[in-house]
Amino acid sequence: MSATDAARSIRVLFIEDDDDAARLVRERLAASEGARLVLHHVHDLKAGLIALNGDGYDVVLTDLNLPDSRGVRTVKRLVAVRKEIPVVVFSAVDEERAILELLHSGAQEYLVKGKGDGHGVARALRQAIERKRAELNLQRLAHYDSLTGLANRTLFHNRLEYALANATRRQSCVALMVLDLDRFKAVNDTLGHQAGDRLLSLAAERLSRCVRDSDTIARLGGDEFTIILENLGGAEEPRIVARKILDVMAQPFALEGQDVYVTPSIGITLFPHDDDNVDGLLKNADAAMYQVKANGRNGYQFFTAGMNERAVARIRIESGLRQAIERGEFLLHYQPKVSLQSGRLQGMEALVRWQRPDAGIVSPGHFIPVAEDSGLIIPIGEWVLRKGLAQMRIWLDSGLPVPRLAVNICARQFRQCDVASMVADALRQSGLDGNYLEVEITESVLMEDTDATVATLQRLKELGVSIAIDDFGTGYSSLNYLKRFPIDTLKIDRSFVSDIPYDQDDAVITRAIIGLAHNLRRTVIAEGVETHEQVRFLRENHCDEAQGYLFSGPISTMQMTGYLERERGRLAAGPVLSIVGGGQVAV
Ligand code: C2E
Ligand code: MG
Ligand code: MG
Repeated sequence: MSATDAARSIRVLFIEDDDDAARLVRERLAASEGARLVLHHVHDLKAGLIALNGDGYDVVLTDLNLPDSRGVRTVKRLVAVRKEIPVVVFSAVDEERAILELLHSGAQEYLVKGKGDGHGVARALRQAIERKRAELNLQRLAHYDSLTGLANRTLFHNRLEYALANATRRQSCVALMVLDLDRFKAVNDTLGHQAGDRLLSLAAERLSRCVRDSDTIARLGGDEFTIILENLGGAEEPRIVARKILDVMAQPFALEGQDVYVTPSIGITLFPHDDDNVDGLLKNADAAMYQVKANGRNGYQFFTAGMNERAVARIRIESGLRQAIERGEFLLHYQPKVSLQSGRLQGMEALVRWQRPDAGIVSPGHFIPVAEDSGLIIPIGEWVLRKGLAQMRIWLDSGLPVPRLAVNICARQFRQCDVASMVADALRQSGLDGNYLEVEITESVLMEDTDATVATLQRLKELGVSIAIDDFGTGYSSLNYLKRFPIDTLKIDRSFVSDIPYDQDDAVITRAIIGLAHNLRRTVIAEGVETHEQVRFLRENHCDEAQGYLFSGPISTMQMTGYLERERGRLAAGPVLSIVGGGQVAV
């Protein structure tokens, strides 16, 4: 006990219906303690509870059997009102079993009436206070986050369990919010851990302003906060709270003499609407939060079924992608493009693959959309370009016939980086002429920011690079831009090719695209060619080139080297047959 505590007198709430017994205790304590113990005496539990509700007692000393309460119940009622104030029981019963039950009910100490002097009673009271303090301290450490003072994961779980049980009984709703500070990691990395910690406690303070005292705010770790809102009628209140949070967090945080802006992403799920247990609700709220992040952060979102796996898978991909370049997890596969007249190799398309250490090869359909959304497509795309050109250099230097390499470039790359300069630099570095390169862009590139796009495409043309429109027919297919932009090739989308010649519509569209391309004196290539019938149809309609599994799927560098060696042999032997993957394809 500290010096000030020792100097201050201990205030005891004394509940005892028997006046004689009460007088005896009072006299004994006065004799041994003097003014160091101040007793306030009441006669029944009701008066005791009222007194306890006011402030100022350090400990309760109570008789077990009162006019309005008997036995363990007396202790339970007292503890329920003020669980931070220790209760010492005073009774005639001296029996082991009863004592244990009392201690379980929350009593700190047990004294047998009539036994012991004033010193003994005073010591018991002081020990009870000390022990309660230690107990509370332990509970605080076990249940609260020391940095922010908010509930920690353990307490959060308890509170949520409790809230769900309560809501079930009352038929009310509970909302669970999961909140994470966008860019927290950046603050931590640039301003240091101390600033990071300061940011977390300031954020915790602001969050506390947005909810009622009875609501729970917890920090589960890092910058992950949760909020439990209870006794709700529906979704309106969590929506209001979420807006309030966005509002208070929009103010700058003063850290290290700087104004730092962080924004929250908030996921919300409702009990019992979305799920009926703690784990399920947490997962939902997480998924909703990831959705907010995927949509550009700084907002809130309610959970909807189906959000879950998708959002989680996506975030996993994004975090994996961030490290994939340094770890060298990308590789290129190459798919031949062949002439439908001669069967000769006209070029090849570089198709990126992601070799995840734990998940095997991931196809671009899974990660390219995520890379585009997150901006990671910029470094990935640059890697593809440089790597592809470096490989071209190796093939050409060993005398293998590679007419041209096609690289896919998406709209985001055009928007966010200077594609023409990047290409010029990559060509310079590889020492290759621009004629060896083709870029495949989609129609969406042409629809955006037209003047800048025209300029970029023009510069690419000046470098000698050719330009193909990928997946042609699936976008806007505006004929205007075919005249306006310097485009060399149309690639008929797989979806039209797959059903020719049987599907009449697809056959008509394919024929129309071929005619259009030739009218404008462009080359046309069909992608996704898998059957001989398709080849026959395409040849009859004068399509120039084809790409697809029938000739070869995308293959590794080594396989492509073998393919090129055979191609060199064929060139030496003369035209006509194209040999693919052991089989022969007559064209
Ligand atoms: P895409 O540019 O249209 O590429 C053609 C896709 O069709 C490739 O899928 C290829 O494996 C597949 N394919 C080829 N022949 C056949 C066939 O006969 N039948 C069928 N069903 N499919 C065939 P992949 O490699 O999964 O690539 C998918 C898409 O990912 C590509 O479509 C492209 O848009 C994108 N992508 C791939 N690599 C890159 C890259 O380096 N950068 C960018 N920005 N996008 C890339
Ligand atoms: Mg392509
Ligand atoms: Mg395509």
